[in-house]
Amino acid sequence: MKAVVAAETGPPGVMKWTDAEPPKPAPDECVVRVEACGACMHEVLVRRGQIPGTFPIIPGHEVVGAVVEVGADVVDFAVGDRVVSNQRQRVCGKCRECRMGRETRCPRKVFLGDIGPNGGYAELVAVSDGSLVKVPPGLASPHVAIASCAVGTQLNALRDVARLELGETVLVTGAGGGVGLHAIQLAKAMGARVVAQTTSPGKVDAVREAGADEILLVERGADYSADVMGVTGGRGCDVVLENVGAASFASSVKTVALHGRLVLVGEVQKAPPRVVADLVGWRGRDISIRSAASTTRRQLEDVLTLMERGVVTPVVTDVLPMSEAPRAHEILESGSATGRILLVPDTAG
Ligand SMILES: [Zn+2]
Ligand SMILES: [Zn+2]
Repeated sequence: MKAVVAAETGPPGVMKWTDAEPPKPAPDECVVRVEACGACMHEVLVRRGQIPGTFPIIPGHEVVGAVVEVGADVVDFAVGDRVVSNQRQRVCGKCRECRMGRETRCPRKVFLGDIGPNGGYAELVAVSDGSLVKVPPGLASPHVAIASCAVGTQLNALRDVARLELGETVLVTGAGGGVGLHAIQLAKAMGARVVAQTTSPGKVDAVREAGADEILLVERGADYSADVMGVTGGRGCDVVLENVGAASFASSVKTVALHGRLVLVGEVQKAPPRVVADLVGWRGRDISIRSAASTTRRQLEDVLTLMERGVVTPVVTDVLPMSEAPRAHEILESGSATGRILLVPDTAG
């Protein structure tokens, strides 16, 4: 088969569209013919050596495609099923975290695209049955590939970590990016008023289209907390989704309303500085600071249901052939993308 292989860490050009050994399914795995795979900042960090990987790798963990072969123990999938993956090739299904429905923290999880040539920038990829979900028939677009990472992570943060309630106000930072735009859609669907923060004038239209009630276009690095307080009557936001990280945290934590919840989701800096904690101020407001990462299979199923109902629309702004994976990573590194990037095998269609 053909695949994007990175033999070692390095600049985007280390990724080559080349011949690779096709995967053989373990007993609990399905081999999926890849229709599309999302390009994600995670792969950029692995390629640069900032997240450890076992090289050579085939990157990619946001896969949609058709099952072409099933392992001997697979019972829930058959050849021909159209499936989407979550971020892992497998979890153990047996440990404390898996048994509690917190499989994203399974200590034996194998990430898709980090551990040798096991990822989705390829014509074929093998994924365990526990990390796949069938795509509802109404969702024909390859954009469904991003259901897990770009949408499911925000569902995890808003619904299951922040426990957003009907009528609350949500601040979404980094609102114009590939995750923020989906957070806005989800928060609106959950009956929230959404305040969206972005530093990119070019992303304002997309933020508005996603449904934001208030859009704050702020200077990169500027303290925007007064702007948020201004549009919330001085009360702040019940839930703050921090998709930017350290550069934004000092402002965003000041905007958390009494009893509010701040959820750390993203970090855009290579080496984020330490942040200063105002413990007295935080304690005096009864706030919670939590974190959320990745997507369980149940959350992925729920995202597909929401997409099928038209509640959430995946925002994809670039579709590139896999041979142009280096260009996809350059776009990701520039931070210029509004929405997500899809890679399709050059041989597709
Ligand atoms: Zn486990
Ligand atoms: Zn991802």
